[in-house]
Amino acid sequence: METNLSQNPSNASSTFASLGLSEWLVNTLKELGMKKPTPVQEHCIPRILAGEDVLGLAQTGSGKTAAFALPMLHHLAKYPYGVFALVVTPTRELAYQLAEQFRALGSGMNLRCEVVVGGMNTINQSRALMKRPHIVIATPGRIKVLIEDNPDLPAIFSNVKFVVLDEADRVLDVSFEEELKVIFECLPKTRQTLLFSATMTSDLQSLLELSANKAYFYEGYEGLKTVDSLKQQYVFMPKNAKEVYLLHILSKMQDMGIRSAMIFVSTCRTCHRLGLLLEQLEHEAASLHSLKSQSLRLSSLHQFKSGQAHLLVATDVASRGLDIPTVDLVINYDIPRYPTDYVHRVGRTARAGRGGLAISFITENDIKLIHKIEEALGKKLDKFECKENDVNADITKVFKAKRVVTMKMMDDGFEDKAKARKEQNLRNASRKRAAAEDD
Ligand code: AMP
Repeated sequence: METNLSQNPSNASSTFASLGLSEWLVNTLKELGMKKPTPVQEHCIPRILAGEDVLGLAQTGSGKTAAFALPMLHHLAKYPYGVFALVVTPTRELAYQLAEQFRALGSGMNLRCEVVVGGMNTINQSRALMKRPHIVIATPGRIKVLIEDNPDLPAIFSNVKFVVLDEADRVLDVSFEEELKVIFECLPKTRQTLLFSATMTSDLQSLLELSANKAYFYEGYEGLKTVDSLKQQYVFMPKNAKEVYLLHILSKMQDMGIRSAMIFVSTCRTCHRLGLLLEQLEHEAASLHSLKSQSLRLSSLHQFKSGQAHLLVATDVASRGLDIPTVDLVINYDIPRYPTDYVHRVGRTARAGRGGLAISFITENDIKLIHKIEEALGKKLDKFECKENDVNADITKVFKAKRVVTMKMMDDGFEDKAKARKEQNLRNASRKRAAAEDD
């Protein structure tokens, strides 16, 4: 489907009040310093208020959350009974971030919002849901488990007025197919469905075509694009020198005026190892990956957000949607396999009109990947200048720290967790194969 921004022209004079939102919400927005609707809000809010289903495609950081949260809160305040909305999002951290935004936007009413994600106690979660909060924000796997385990739970969703799939492209991914089937079976047919995503995929395209008469399609998305205020650079280096280059760049952070940085890696193991290495090298670094317990994931994110740690080493579990204004630098320590992931990662900086820097570490194995990224972006990355002598100044220190970390990793329990995860994945795959053969 060919759509471009001109189909969604921006009306410079529109205000939150002129979009039809209640006065109490307009006042809350004023208090939060949100003066004018962004384009995605301007186009989607009136449609959602009018009862339409919406598929909204918009760049990360464009105000998507408020675009769906505001009209929902407008309706909810008039009928605050039972579970009013279910919001499904792919990662646990995004679920908590969404809840924070709902609570801020809904501070003018007595909003009850519940987050249900993996890694937390299911009995407590089930109990909290039975108290019928207004908004349930969930990751797909956990809500499916809760619905299946508690026969009383499906009924609480029988009057839901809204279902939202946030980062819909990721939620509609085949790996969540089963979860979505269980979730949608509990929801009434009369609900409004809102899909929001930063990227268009064939799943979303098919959904849109199926509901062509019904769903309003907003596209404020011009293909894979990064914002102009983001400087994108690369450093070419030998594979075994990555840690040394990283330390060198981090040592220049202060001079470069960088408050905090996110360092993206491709595996949980590298994430864990690099977190330990930076700690060993006396950097305040938090780390975030899916082999950590949920309470540790939350505390890492909190440390980073509050400025206790100025570095966050993360896998792609943190590449989408996270909104942390102090992030001035994103380092692609490992180059992502897909250009989409690159765009999501670097979108953690240069948000809301601010500047930002992304530096990608390229080794000889990454040349094809980086060409694919440059082709998708329609621009070349610039070279990040650094002198080899300066980089190598700390080489001995880094290699010493690496040896210490290798020993630490032998007995800190990480390998056991990785092994258990691998076995679980194998069991899941063989269960899925068996189910497919049964079909
Ligand atoms: P999102 O794309 O939903 O992650 O939002 C990105 C950031 O923009 C969040 O910090 C929002 O609080 C902020 N934001 C959303 N809408 C507006 C607005 N109309 N004016 C100013 N800031 C906004």
